[in-house]
Amino acid sequence: MTTDVDTFDVIVVGSGGGLVGAYVAASRGLRTLVIEKTDRVGGTTAYSGAGLWFPGSAPLKRAGVEDDIENARTYLRGLVGDSSREALQDAYLHAGAQLIDELEQNSWFQEFVYGPVPDYYPSADGASPAGRSIFPPPVSVADLGDKADLVRKSLPDERWGHDEGPVLSGGRALIGRALVAFLETGNGVLRTETALESLVVEDGKVVGVNAVSHGEKVTFRATGGVILAAGGFEHNRELREKYGKVPLTGEWSNGVSSNTGDALEAGIIVGADTDLLDEAWFVPGLVQPDGLALFHTGTRGGIWVNSAGERFLNETQPYDQTGHAIHNAEVTTGVSHLPTRWILDQKQIDRDSFGGDPSEPVRPDWFESGALQKADSLQELAELLGLPFENLQKTVDEFNDAARAGVDEKFHRGETPWDQMFTHMVGFAWLPSQNYLAPIPQDFPNPLLAPIDTPPYYAATIVLSDIGTKGGLKTDERARVLRPDGEPIAGLYAAGNTMAAMSGRVYPGAGTPIGSSLAFSYLAVLDIESAGDVAEPRN
Ligand SMILES: Cc1cc2nc3c(=O)[nH]c(=O)nc-3n(C[C@H](O)[C@H](O)[C@H](O)COP(=O)(O)OP(=O)(O)OC[C@H]3O[C@@H](n4cnc5c(N)ncnc54)[C@H](O)[C@@H]3O)c2cc1C
Repeated sequence: MTTDVDTFDVIVVGSGGGLVGAYVAASRGLRTLVIEKTDRVGGTTAYSGAGLWFPGSAPLKRAGVEDDIENARTYLRGLVGDSSREALQDAYLHAGAQLIDELEQNSWFQEFVYGPVPDYYPSADGASPAGRSIFPPPVSVADLGDKADLVRKSLPDERWGHDEGPVLSGGRALIGRALVAFLETGNGVLRTETALESLVVEDGKVVGVNAVSHGEKVTFRATGGVILAAGGFEHNRELREKYGKVPLTGEWSNGVSSNTGDALEAGIIVGADTDLLDEAWFVPGLVQPDGLALFHTGTRGGIWVNSAGERFLNETQPYDQTGHAIHNAEVTTGVSHLPTRWILDQKQIDRDSFGGDPSEPVRPDWFESGALQKADSLQELAELLGLPFENLQKTVDEFNDAARAGVDEKFHRGETPWDQMFTHMVGFAWLPSQNYLAPIPQDFPNPLLAPIDTPPYYAATIVLSDIGTKGGLKTDERARVLRPDGEPIAGLYAAGNTMAAMSGRVYPGAGTPIGSSLAFSYLAVLDIESAGDVAEPRN
């Protein structure tokens, strides 16, 4: 039996970045329901560092970062080209700064802070070496009270029980803050363990959702609109094999496991157009002792080689570009790049350790599981890995020549502000153990090019991971979902990884995925409010 439970102005499907849009709706007096498939809120957003790439936003100005939206527009336009519509890009640029102004009026969102992460394409016109990323401040469990238990744990905590203690940082802080702010409005209702199954359409307009809530079929109605913010389809094997150029199963994804493309499929059924379905926020994944891959953000030493024992990329460039380099090489070269092998020597292990706390020796489970292999000579290592030894030796010799000269003429490693960031530190707030790497000693002309010449030698495994898919429902600049003829589907909106990405096939800077989830759920709320099919605002 289906129960018609309640009617709202706005329904938000998914509690990742969409929760911020839900807060905006509720704070503007719209009665807002958030349905979340799992028993915790936050999705992949909670796993993240919560960087938000919001050019021209107030926190950047407060920090004295010289920039403006026009400059960022040049950058975005040049990079993204026509892989997304210009109007979508402009809408994002304006919405980001505007949203932060609105959020910061609420004490739960005070104050976002600037984080110096250089733009990912430093030589593109309009790039900012200082970056355009802002972050939410941490928040204590004590401040969030019993709501803290509702927030999804961090990835290391979920996978390995690394308890993060009494303070939520990064994405957990953003979600914890948004959750309490949303509920405090008095207009927000949250239903966890409630999964969208299909959309309710009447007279051509989406007017609600059919869902399964705690095992029971329910229907919720929305007079204003339904915002699909239910992440991507990274864990839907069938869809990934259907749309991807590399047949990934989702097992290497770092997106939350509940992101199985439900909202995408529901949108397609009611006539939505789609775009970029072969894309993802591809990143390298370092295979861990448990056999799963962990999003690998930065590399300081060693080289990566394919099955021919050859380098094929600048290993220290931004992770999205290394991810895409693996993807593209796999698709186009006829040489297997899955897995890619990361070759290191003893001095790099002595300097940075491996796979955990840099101040601790390598944990034994890395060797016991085979996730890190060790050999006395390069020849022995090549045999262990099944790589052609002559090629590997030639690759290492060439790299060592480049290291001694201090210039990587082939792949330009260590030349950009992003690469150089790793000279002095590495890591992001979401993985505290990576935050405090010692600076690389200046023993070599270019510290990011250390020769591989000190046995024993080591190899780890890199696979093609992602932090969400980025193809999805086509939207316009008001986040309205479009049909193939370009007309919007009344009452239906999409944001974040449920929509075809505003950034097309590129990752312009730290915080574009979550930025898109926030910005487009916000734009959806503005559109719903302006359309006026909502009850009288309650505050
Ligand atoms: C370790 C890590 C660090 C990262 N750091 C950053 C960063 O600093 N900045 C950045 O921009 N990006 C970062 N990313 C990427 C980013 O986190 C994701 O791409 C982004 O959070 C996706 O946001 P979303 O709102 O689209 O989806 P999500 O945050 O994944 O939220 C989707 C939610 O929808 C729910 N859902 C799914 N299906 C249904 C259904 N049928 N019914 C109801 N609910 C449903 C899911 O359970 C989930 O809670 C990082 C990712 C990782 C893994």
